[in-house]
Amino acid sequence: MTARIIDGKAIAQQFRTEVALRAQRLIEDGGVTPGLAVVIVGDDPASKVYVRNKALACEQAGMHSEVHALPANTPQASLLEFLRRLNANPGIHGILVQLPLPKPLDARAVIEAIDPSKDVDGFHWQNVGGLVAGEADYYPCTPLGVMRMLEEEGVTVEGRHAVVVGRSNIVGKPMALLLLNASATVTVCHSRTADLGAITRQADILVAAVGKPRMIRAEMVKPGAVVIDVGINRLPDGKLAGDVDYAPVAEVAALITPVPGGVGPMTIAMLLANTVKSAERAAGLAARGETRIA
Ligand code: NDP
Repeated sequence: MTARIIDGKAIAQQFRTEVALRAQRLIEDGGVTPGLAVVIVGDDPASKVYVRNKALACEQAGMHSEVHALPANTPQASLLEFLRRLNANPGIHGILVQLPLPKPLDARAVIEAIDPSKDVDGFHWQNVGGLVAGEADYYPCTPLGVMRMLEEEGVTVEGRHAVVVGRSNIVGKPMALLLLNASATVTVCHSRTADLGAITRQADILVAAVGKPRMIRAEMVKPGAVVIDVGINRLPDGKLAGDVDYAPVAEVAALITPVPGGVGPMTIAMLLANTVKSAERAAGLAARGETRIA
């Protein structure tokens, strides 16, 4: 079997086009330009690239974006005050603080300082609680992007066995909850899981979110499975690789996402979608394109 490749770039582009239309309608009907503020503290090179891409995507969708680059030694109190000002700014509908934050900043306290109604990353406790209950205002962008991708590809989630490898708060756990909310039977694996392959081989839908290049090998995958690779790993030669050993696994799976060009573009598309949804709510319009997955 040779897997069909899920073209994340193309699916993300459809969502971005839809978001751009929604932004245009907001501007024309309500005089509101959706606005995203991205806050980056310090000068981590990978974070800078992510932030630039997010800002660029916003502008391409006709939305306002502003990047606030603060020095690594910014005191916690100043950062919280900065966020309070963004919370109060009616031109800003989404606020994102790029993680990880340099020490000794307390990332949890910083996220809690974001107004939950502008928390387009879905990391505030209020949205985490909503995720558990299946009714959050905003779901974390990467797992939401995976759900939208499965939906677009016509993958049935209900009743299937989904195995998520990785249990981080930003990817693995929310991924598992979204799959559970969509009525999959979910198993979550992590670094202490015994005999990982025996579990991943049972997966109808296998999501890898580990951060270890090519660790999911072909013999760990059930023939005909849907394989979603969230991992982004920089190899010594500078190339990118996912957590899945792509070419051999593609011989076993039915559907597979590539890296790059799989989940990554969906993450940005969902960030834009969450921001436009926030702007629609702020303008008193029912959010169009509400998530259909939970
Ligand atoms: P974390 O490092 O926070 O979490 C990694 C998880 O993998 C942990 O739960 C860890 O287990 C688990 N793990 C580590 N080693 C093993 C192993 N040998 N077997 C099974 N599980 C293991 O990473 P993130 O969740 O933040 O990110 C995961 C990957 O996804 C990274 O490559 C990251 O770059 C990528 N990513 C991609 C995005 C995208 O847009 N495509 C967005 C965000 C992340 P334990 O909890 O026990 O330590």
